[in-house]
Amino acid sequence: AHLDRIAAVDDRVHAFLHVDTEGALAAAGKVDAARAAGEPLGPLAGVPVAVKDVVTTKGVPSTAGSKILEGWKPPYDATIVSRMKDAGLVILGKTNMDEFAMGSSTEWSAYGPTFNPWDLTRIPGGSGGGSSAALAAYEAPLAIGTDTGGSIRQPGAVTGTVGAKPTYGGTSRYGLIAFSSSLDTPGPCARSVEDAALLHAVIAGHDPRDSTSIPAAVPDVVGAARLGATGDLSGVRLGVVREFAGEGAEPGVMAVFRESLEALVKLGAEVVEVSCPHFQYALPAYYLIAPSECSSNLARFDGVRYGLRVGDDGNRALEEVMSVTREAGFGPEVKRRIMIGTYALSSGYYDAYYGQAQKVRTLISRDFAAAFERVDVLVSPTTPFVAFELGSRTADPYQMYLADLFTIPSNLYGGPAISVPAGLSAGLPVGLQVMAPTLADDRMYRVAAALE
Ligand code: GLN
Repeated sequence: AHLDRIAAVDDRVHAFLHVDTEGALAAAGKVDAARAAGEPLGPLAGVPVAVKDVVTTKGVPSTAGSKILEGWKPPYDATIVSRMKDAGLVILGKTNMDEFAMGSSTEWSAYGPTFNPWDLTRIPGGSGGGSSAALAAYEAPLAIGTDTGGSIRQPGAVTGTVGAKPTYGGTSRYGLIAFSSSLDTPGPCARSVEDAALLHAVIAGHDPRDSTSIPAAVPDVVGAARLGATGDLSGVRLGVVREFAGEGAEPGVMAVFRESLEALVKLGAEVVEVSCPHFQYALPAYYLIAPSECSSNLARFDGVRYGLRVGDDGNRALEEVMSVTREAGFGPEVKRRIMIGTYALSSGYYDAYYGQAQKVRTLISRDFAAAFERVDVLVSPTTPFVAFELGSRTADPYQMYLADLFTIPSNLYGGPAISVPAGLSAGLPVGLQVMAPTLADDRMYRVAAALE
């Protein structure tokens, strides 16, 4: 049914870069056979899932939305993919995204944009716009995203779907095409909080193949989502960040946020204002740290080991072939990030830029720690504005970067955060973000499920 739905609508939505019809039918057949044989099956066995194209899938194209990886078929599965396969999930295909997950609208995909199913003239968010649009268009019931600065939550918010960024290190990065290694976090996208929690439970947990994976038990996120769904939040303290109030969110977004707070208070929650004075520096710190790590990670795309090679005519030196390949293979936003990052890491500038940004990152983590002494979770709008028109923010990078104003702090800190549909502004979806302390992923699911 989902393959039929993709065939019917994806020429208009363009959520998928690759549909793996054969693989999906084979995986579904295996689950049917297991069921017929009376084998025990997990709760998601046979459920289809769409996977963001930055996640490697064995033998299935994985381009990260870039020309430089066009046609590349990875020889192995990411850990989260093998875990989904082991749990009987059926991978439908690979979803569109901003090139190497750099962007907030999916307009920086080298393969053309994805369109928001709510209004096809608008963006579906980014970088994981394909995953969220696939959910909103009923092309898939579950999807995988990756969140470095908001790329699961912001697309969730603007497509009226749920997107959760687990605790950094709570889900394995093994097999993710790296953007910013100290921030990248894979996580679940779904149409309900409980569905997201079910997928979270499948993909999370320690992985010895990822050195930053946390060797701790996965919190009971499914139980927490079900508890939240009972609608009782008595005793839960919600922190509202004072510094976010003046940050220029659209009035319609703020109105939905206030209504959500009122709804949560009716369920028994208490609202406490907290101050996080360094959150205002999160965006500039992120735009030094993420590009710095990207400039290092993307050095591996040299035309020798992977994908595209251009200009290898027998007359050019190796370095020139690398340079011509990278010129042809990377799009404008990726080049901008590599240049910023290379500059910030250069000797003589390191202390002034990268080193300084790392200090700011520590101060932001301390703001979180201080806030979580007083409250259980922090809440905010997920994004300052609803889905915007295609083309309206590509000319000025800063206008695009602003989409992640409220999502980036939790990436710098490493704690979990979720976006849940909260209402509509001018007919377009608005998300509520719930941020929790590191390894307290269950708390955010509980609060998010209560709002649903
Ligand atoms: N929009 C942010 C960026 O462009 C975040 C991307 C992400 O989370 N992958 O870097």
